[in-house]
Amino acid sequence: MTPKRTDTFPRALPGHWLHPADPGYDEARRIWNATHDRRPALIARCRDAAEVSLAMRYAATSDLEVTVRGGGHNVAGTAIADGALLIDLSPLNEVTVDPVAQVAYAGGGALLRDVDAATIPHGLACPAGVVSHTGLGGLALGGGYGWLTRKWGLTCDHILAADVVLADGSVVEAGEDSHRELLWALRGGGGNFGVVTRFTLRLRPVGPVHHHVGVYALEQAPAALAAYREFAEGQGLDLHAVGCLKFAGEQEWIPAGLRGQRALFLTVAWFGDPSQGPARAAPLFEAAPPAGAVERVLSYAELQALGDHGEPHGNRYFTKSCYLQELSPTEAGEFVAITRDMPSRLSSIDFEYLRGAIADVPGADTAFPSREAPYICTVSSQWTDPERDAQNAAWPRQGIARLRPFSTGGAYVNYLQDEKEGRVLEVYGAARHERLAAVKKAYDPGNVLRRNQNIPPLADDQQSSSKES
Ligand SMILES: Cc1cc2nc3c(=O)[nH]c(=O)nc-3n(C[C@H](O)[C@H](O)[C@H](O)COP(=O)(O)OP(=O)(O)OC[C@H]3O[C@@H](n4cnc5c(N)ncnc54)[C@H](O)[C@@H]3O)c2cc1C
Repeated sequence: MTPKRTDTFPRALPGHWLHPADPGYDEARRIWNATHDRRPALIARCRDAAEVSLAMRYAATSDLEVTVRGGGHNVAGTAIADGALLIDLSPLNEVTVDPVAQVAYAGGGALLRDVDAATIPHGLACPAGVVSHTGLGGLALGGGYGWLTRKWGLTCDHILAADVVLADGSVVEAGEDSHRELLWALRGGGGNFGVVTRFTLRLRPVGPVHHHVGVYALEQAPAALAAYREFAEGQGLDLHAVGCLKFAGEQEWIPAGLRGQRALFLTVAWFGDPSQGPARAAPLFEAAPPAGAVERVLSYAELQALGDHGEPHGNRYFTKSCYLQELSPTEAGEFVAITRDMPSRLSSIDFEYLRGAIADVPGADTAFPSREAPYICTVSSQWTDPERDAQNAAWPRQGIARLRPFSTGGAYVNYLQDEKEGRVLEVYGAARHERLAAVKKAYDPGNVLRRNQNIPPLADDQQSSSKES
């Protein structure tokens, strides 16, 4: 697409507004997943709400599509589009903490590691994802699962208020006393309603974590998965147990015969008194003795960074995901079969038992749609050679197709990729989608923000506008 009038873009912010010919443009247009190699017409690197507002108004007068980049980690590449104006929030990453009120104020472009770096010194954290270079913006607006979500709820449940630049460039604060319906939509409705320049987040106390990982040969996986199900479903809120099927690495604690082989990893994280951790994890590892294991006490910061190196920027990724009703021997058998077909040594199947505090929040309180789902599962391809794109994108599609008969039918909006038309409506359900579409109509009636998992505005004859002040 040939951009219109971008030659007139504001020169008042040199180095912050990048045209394709400018130094730094190529660096600034890169996102985490290298399969999305797109060229925006213009990149506005915004440092505050006023600059976001300027960019929004400029896009409107220049007839440019707008995309918004938080951490740039959406696997479907929704942050960036050819020929669009990219509002890059990465300079807007400051996080401050009020330790007495247990509240953080985080810029809309903060990464999870920026939030952790500010809160952990106070013994506090906002429950969020498991890879610290992920963006807070996209993760929080779509939901936000992580180590602490069984204990405290989703990231979106921790949004107390948000400063939002709307499609017309105006700025509002969505909170309990103003724009409440917008706040409801921001808690799980995705990046549809405006650009969040500042999140006000509730924080929770955190301390050291007892962390225990066991590895199993693929042949042992069905028995180990049966033990996992029994164990995980019976736990209180201080314990979170997750699983992963992937090629084993070369770590010393992994038996030599398993290194480089397809294997199952089960991990137990205990957030109570660390001295009780070994006893808390024991029932799982006694019921299903692993071939190798490692246990240690980690700081919360170490826990949050454990997954960072496994999913680096610049590799190629394709993910499909579903919620599972249960993890019976049938689903366990499917996990093993899908693992046998895994075409890349960098790929994985991840799963975890959810519930706990996620399910305790009343469904109508937030836009997040799938609180009751027992299990979430992602089949994630990672590879480096563009020649192998088709093969690696096919594996998650085929894997999730095999699991579909056992799925709840829902999906996590932040993992949607390559979906059939109407999937977003299906994911939210008719009533919640209609309520979100009404908010969209009130706050972004022209659907300016549409390169997300899109919720179009309600048609005129469907409902009156729900914008309030
Ligand atoms: C390595 C990796 C690990 C992950 N781990 C987890 C996990 O543990 N738990 C989990 O729940 N999810 C996880 N995810 C999924 C993650 O939640 C989504 O990829 C999410 O979209 C990432 O947000 P982002 O800001 O980095 O992405 P972006 O691509 O920048 O943004 C995603 C969408 O949100 C919009 N958006 C972003 N910021 C704002 C803002 N401030 N205002 C308005 N709109 C905004 C964008 O326009 C875009 O449409 C992971 C993803 C990756 C790649």
